Amino acid sequence: MDKEKIWLSSPHMGGNEQTYINKAFAENWIAPLGPNVTQFEKSIKSYLDNDPQSKIEVAALSSGTAALHLALILLGVKSGDEVICQSMTFAASANPIIYQGAVPIFIDSEPETLNICPEQLERAIKGRISKGKKPKAIIAVHLYGMPYNVEAVHNVARQYDIPVIEDSAEALGSTYKNRKCGTFGDFSILSFNGNKIITTSGGGALVTKSAEVKKKAIFLGSQARDDAPHYQHSEVGYNYRLSNICAGIGLGQMEVLDKRVQARRDMFHFYVNLFDKIDGVTVFHAPDDQYFSNHWLSVIELNEKKLGVNKEELREYLLKENIESRPLWKPMHMQPVFKDYPFYGTQVAEKKFNSGLCLPSGSNLTDSDRSRIEQAIMNCLKK
Ligand SMILES: *Cc1c(COP(=O)(O)O)cnc(C)c1O
Repeated sequence: MDKEKIWLSSPHMGGNEQTYINKAFAENWIAPLGPNVTQFEKSIKSYLDNDPQSKIEVAALSSGTAALHLALILLGVKSGDEVICQSMTFAASANPIIYQGAVPIFIDSEPETLNICPEQLERAIKGRISKGKKPKAIIAVHLYGMPYNVEAVHNVARQYDIPVIEDSAEALGSTYKNRKCGTFGDFSILSFNGNKIITTSGGGALVTKSAEVKKKAIFLGSQARDDAPHYQHSEVGYNYRLSNICAGIGLGQMEVLDKRVQARRDMFHFYVNLFDKIDGVTVFHAPDDQYFSNHWLSVIELNEKKLGVNKEELREYLLKENIESRPLWKPMHMQPVFKDYPFYGTQVAEKKFNSGLCLPSGSNLTDSDRSRIEQAIMNCLKK
């Protein structure tokens, strides 16, 4: 096989990243703090909300997972508490619940967005309250960049007075009713892992609504050192800050974020055009124009009866052509590690998992990559 690998989603540097890294070296800021970190936080903040009155505060961290963990800690989630979590997601959305010794309550998806179903959410809250356990938080995810139904989900959360942690790891650049994803939750998290729309190699951020809370997040994320010349600790801390080197990569990436969003959306339109000709494949798309997805990953659903091909057969065919594709996130309630926790829903997420496939979506794919992808898909589906 001499054809180059076409990846699902690979890092795409803008060009200025090394300038910021070199600056860190020149100043010897080789540490989990420094001017690049401060600048990166500012840059994310103004990207999310450039209103000078904005209360938004951003703490740059070592990962999106670390940001979720700190959000739970700051909400006071403790051992034995219950936390609601969208079932169809990456395991990192749910793992921090377990770090806290808390109990995840999984919720099915709605078909329109693949994200947390507002009706099942309310059913679950009522069910848990009737058992004497009001959930401490709701983790809602904008999967593949598609915003969840922010209005409906937050209405339910408000009605029962439960805080929302908005997992926006895949949705930097997406909007709902013209407001940026990453600004809706009581806490929001971002990820800059290598496969995300922009990357710091590894990194994340916690978005809060107050300077006070940001300060507390940084305190906890920098080993919870009390204000004393010696090392004094009144609380358990974590080592969760972002490195000044990685933040340099992030600064370069912020310069090209809008271009990256455009390129991912162009990939989505490429697939919309491609599958227009094929009966039996639908490209997952926004339910209406209130939703603006960065289309971090383009997702298709295969109708096996019409096509005579299922998602695994297509995936394996593409793999032989050295093209990476991937099934949707396997829902958490179907995962061996989480199968014994409560689940509220039917089979929406499960069915989507069984019929869906994520296709190469990177912002760095070329015309020649696209024609290889098109050829391979056509050859597989027309057999
Ligand atoms: C990537 C991702 C995370 C975790 O982010 P890391 O930076 O990799 O720790 C959390 N939730 C979702 C939905 C993700 O895709």
